[in-house]
Amino acid sequence: MTVYRFTCVICPLSCSVEVEVEGSEVRDVRGFNCSRGREWAVEEVLSPKRVVMTVIRVRGGKEPVVSVKTDSPIPKERIRELMNYLATLEVEAPVSIGQVLEDRPLGLETRVVATRSVDRSDTSK
Ligand code: SF4
Repeated sequence: MTVYRFTCVICPLSCSVEVEVEGSEVRDVRGFNCSRGREWAVEEVLSPKRVVMTVIRVRGGKEPVVSVKTDSPIPKERIRELMNYLATLEVEAPVSIGQVLEDRPLGLETRVVATRSVDRSDTSK
């Protein structure tokens, strides 16, 4: 029997949640104050996910890179693979905040969106 202890990050109440696991089966969950927290804690043990934040290179922009994030959490074990893939990309300026730069990268159920805008560099001056 293994007991995992978490501070729930879903709301500011920050409940201390314990998940008791035997093998791959959840035996008990304690300390949560709502079903969302319970579901989050169980997922955190069985298949943890994270939103990924990084940058993508920009061609012809006033900035060399644009900050991006996934619009939904992805499995933790795929983060490195996604980061490596995004490091190979280069997008063309201009980039608008909220613009989808990759839809379902590597088959993941998420989109990579710009979290800021990057204008074109003015090369005519
Ligand atoms: S268990 Fe529910 S009430 Fe407690 S921190 Fe998580 S979301 Fe908030």
